[in-house]
Amino acid sequence: MHTIYNKLKENIRGQVQMNIIIKDYTYFKIGGVVDLFIEPYDVESLIKAIQIINGNIPFYIIGNGTNLLFSDNGYRGAIIKIGNYLNGINIQGNTLQLGAGTLLSAASRFAAENALTGMEFASGIPGYVGGAIAMNAGAYGGEMVDVVKKVVCLDYSGLFYELSKEEMNFRYRNSRVFDENLVVVSAELEFKAGLKNEIIGKMKDLNQKRMMRQPIDKPSAGSTFKRPAEGFAAKLIEDCGLKGLRYNGAMVSDKHCGFVINENHATASDVLSLMRIIRERVHEKFGIMLEPEVRIIGEEL
Ligand SMILES: Cc1cc2nc3c(=O)[nH]c(=O)nc-3n(C[C@H](O)[C@H](O)[C@H](O)COP(=O)(O)OP(=O)(O)OC[C@H]3O[C@@H](n4cnc5c(N)ncnc54)[C@H](O)[C@@H]3O)c2cc1C
Repeated sequence: MHTIYNKLKENIRGQVQMNIIIKDYTYFKIGGVVDLFIEPYDVESLIKAIQIINGNIPFYIIGNGTNLLFSDNGYRGAIIKIGNYLNGINIQGNTLQLGAGTLLSAASRFAAENALTGMEFASGIPGYVGGAIAMNAGAYGGEMVDVVKKVVCLDYSGLFYELSKEEMNFRYRNSRVFDENLVVVSAELEFKAGLKNEIIGKMKDLNQKRMMRQPIDKPSAGSTFKRPAEGFAAKLIEDCGLKGLRYNGAMVSDKHCGFVINENHATASDVLSLMRIIRERVHEKFGIMLEPEVRIIGEEL
């Protein structure tokens, strides 16, 4: 690990640290020690970092850490954060070019300021553009697939690909990024011309709804489970009487049963135990097996 650390220090511009605690980089505030943590300052350094690491130690890409549950044992290998050093917004007509490390909220605000409509749904999602594209994030009837025009990705050998919306193979909270281990570097999103006041008004309404209905003031990873074909995860969980159920520091939010929150210094093991109980009970009562939406790293559900 020291050899790789030294090589990275010599060859890339960016933060390179050993033995950091990953919980500080996740919204859930959960996760143990990670061997190596890298946050490149530019795309060239990102490519170099991947080339140095790939084939030598395992690695995992993160964005803003808002959809992640890391093991209490952390991660043996390297975490590469595509963070706000790789942000940036350019506008050309109805199109925005966005760096993967741009906050979705900033991108939505920028679109609104320029009277571009289509991304209001995303203004309250706390991830970065890269994470949102990988996950095909969505809310209130909109999804990233609705606005993506093309995406610039890297593969693990450092080759660039420019992929169209169709080539991204977007599905519900999934995309080609996970099929082929791609890294999103930037994206072009396409909008329609709208009225600035209406767009801002819609964003305000949606964010107010979110504040009223979701436990956004508590550490979590957003919706814990995917929406099953047969209904809404939150409703199924609530109908099993699990609202407010705790497992040590982890709790089914009493504001929105779709969220498992870190109520009081929860560990990954607490969250996973609670998730298992939820799955069991929902399966017993409704015959539906909930699938996690949160990405679990270093543990099995
Ligand atoms: C309070 C709260 C509310 C939320 N509401 C919503 C919602 O309404 N709708 C919704 O869809 N989600 C929601 N989420 C979940 C989350 O915000 C989204 O999934 C978001 O898109 C993840 O972005 P991120 O940058 O945080 O990615 P991370 O959580 O860091 O990573 C998520 C996944 O994407 C991959 N990834 C990240 N960046 C890249 C990249 N540049 N290239 C390749 N892969 C990458 C990671 O490997 C990981 O598998 C919510 C989360 C919270 C905490």
